[in-house]
Amino acid sequence: MQRQGADPENMSAEDFLCDFCLRCWAPQRPMVEGHRGSLVCGECLAEAHRAVVVRGEGISVPDPEACALCLMHKDEPHWRSTKVEARPVVCRTCIKRSGAILEKDPDSGWKRPE
Ligand SMILES: [Zn+2]
Ligand SMILES: [Zn+2]
Repeated sequence: MQRQGADPENMSAEDFLCDFCLRCWAPQRPMVEGHRGSLVCGECLAEAHRAVVVRGEGISVPDPEACALCLMHKDEPHWRSTKVEARPVVCRTCIKRSGAILEKDPDSGWKRPE
């Protein structure tokens, strides 16, 4: 997401926040974009990947709650962030897709957790 009150004509790294922890974009904190400017940082993504893909501990969410990245409700495992008040969720499809995107970017230094 974008920081509230950010000037769209003059955006800087601090204006782009991870939807799942509200920390800003930084070189050591790569991000992947979802729909409508939603963002997930590499750290949240690693945590989500570990829980949902590696450990199979994903949770189902009640309809119509939607994934913060694809904005769709899905019948599949999700990861829920407890770091922010809104407690957003991300679906397994977005976790896998975002992980693949970060992995392809050598600058991100991101590796999928095992
Ligand atoms: Zn984050
Ligand atoms: Zn999704």
